[in-house]
Amino acid sequence: MLVSYTEKNTATELGSAVTDGEPPSSIAVADPSAVDEPPSTARVAATDAHSHRVFRNDEFWKTIPSWSDLSTEQFSDWKFQVRNSVTDFAGLVHLVGGITDGAFLEDVRQGILAAPMVIRLSPYILSLIDWENPYDDPVRIQFLPVLSRKEPDHPMLRLDSLQERRDSPVHGLVHRYPGKVLFLTLDVCPVYCRFCTRSYAIGQNTGSVEKATIKASVDRWNRAFAYIASHPDVEDVVISGGDTYMLPPVQIRFIGQSLLAIPHVRRIRYATKGIAVMPTKILTHHEWREAIFHVTELGRKMSKEVCIHTHFNSTNEITDLTRQAADLLFQGGVKVRNQSVLIRGVNDDPARLVKLISQLAWMNIQPYYVYQHDMVKGVEELRTTVATNQELERRVRGSLAGFNTPLFVNDVPGGGGKRDVHSHDWYDRSTGVSIYRSPAVDSDAVYCYFDPLSRLDEIGRERWSRPEEHGRIIAEALENAGLSHLRLTM
Ligand code: SF4
Repeated sequence: MLVSYTEKNTATELGSAVTDGEPPSSIAVADPSAVDEPPSTARVAATDAHSHRVFRNDEFWKTIPSWSDLSTEQFSDWKFQVRNSVTDFAGLVHLVGGITDGAFLEDVRQGILAAPMVIRLSPYILSLIDWENPYDDPVRIQFLPVLSRKEPDHPMLRLDSLQERRDSPVHGLVHRYPGKVLFLTLDVCPVYCRFCTRSYAIGQNTGSVEKATIKASVDRWNRAFAYIASHPDVEDVVISGGDTYMLPPVQIRFIGQSLLAIPHVRRIRYATKGIAVMPTKILTHHEWREAIFHVTELGRKMSKEVCIHTHFNSTNEITDLTRQAADLLFQGGVKVRNQSVLIRGVNDDPARLVKLISQLAWMNIQPYYVYQHDMVKGVEELRTTVATNQELERRVRGSLAGFNTPLFVNDVPGGGGKRDVHSHDWYDRSTGVSIYRSPAVDSDAVYCYFDPLSRLDEIGRERWSRPEEHGRIIAEALENAGLSHLRLTM
């Protein structure tokens, strides 16, 4: 059963009065025309600044011929969403072969063959793609590769660019910062993002990548709990994967209870992209939702924080179903934060990014991070320059309250962790090399990020085209930064 709403989700909600008990079914608002508008608000009202309050509420899945008869209730059923996720090219052609261009589909087929990630699209996310104009669709760009847009990899790209395996004392447990661990519980997700940082492990093998597996296993989890219990510095645990949406309710509870029982663990976060790509599971899988509520409530009773970190990149992923899911979580006392990845053609535009952040804030999802795209192989056309990230930060800051303004960070290759994108010691726009330090992680190390070759000037591109020049480019950057005495970690 879906949750129904009688209030219209519009600016009139601003005028609602808080009363005890049930929310009001109708809201009385003053007639705006009867109120003299002060000059300072006129400018805001004259823009489309409120478009983030409007949520798509049509039966968008009916554009897919096989789903044209489905009711909202049938489409929203989480079992339908899981069973009908598209996991191969034949399944994709079956669903959209009649509504999109054949040449585009052939482009996708060839893109899949060259990609480091297999495909998996939930019915929700597949239905949101504009199949009449799929090339530039921000949802398509994230989940379906096309060969024609592929750019050659930068020579410094790595499969496990964050070096997570090097910092894993227990298989699937990354311990890099003194107070925090990243707990990889499983290696599957409700969708597969083309740009996944963990493309070294997530999903099935592809033609170009044999995956390191991180299977869900109680034995392995118990070893992780024992490690955390024996390291009193650890206060934060990120429960990730893969995606915790794929854990059954009993495992959500087991993992949450086990971690909360460790006295020095104060904060746990379930990482899931699920709210963005299959929000109806929150609405229809009652046991899963109750498991999250249970662990959150248990944590609250112990004065410990339990929250969800999710991953929206574009407003095209957001519908009224998303809003309903976010409302349910909020009403259940679950704090949700969002971590976006900066992706060319998806959100590397100030207006799009401001709208995304505003819409998240409207749903009480805190915009937490905007990440510089990781240096993973096979998706070079998705990366932006550091300069783009910096300019977006300048343009976005000030649009919303400080606590709803994300941190724009570069999770630097080599394991330096998240650095403020502006905090580099050196940045050369011609060669695209930026240099960061991360003293809290390793005071003797420096870390480099490399802008995509297609975004460099002619001189920079020419230098990177010569392998003998690569070492010189990096040495020159270190020297200019005055950091040649430090150890380069990549
Ligand atoms: S949901 Fe997260 S872990 Fe899964 S493919 Fe996407 S980015 Fe990777």
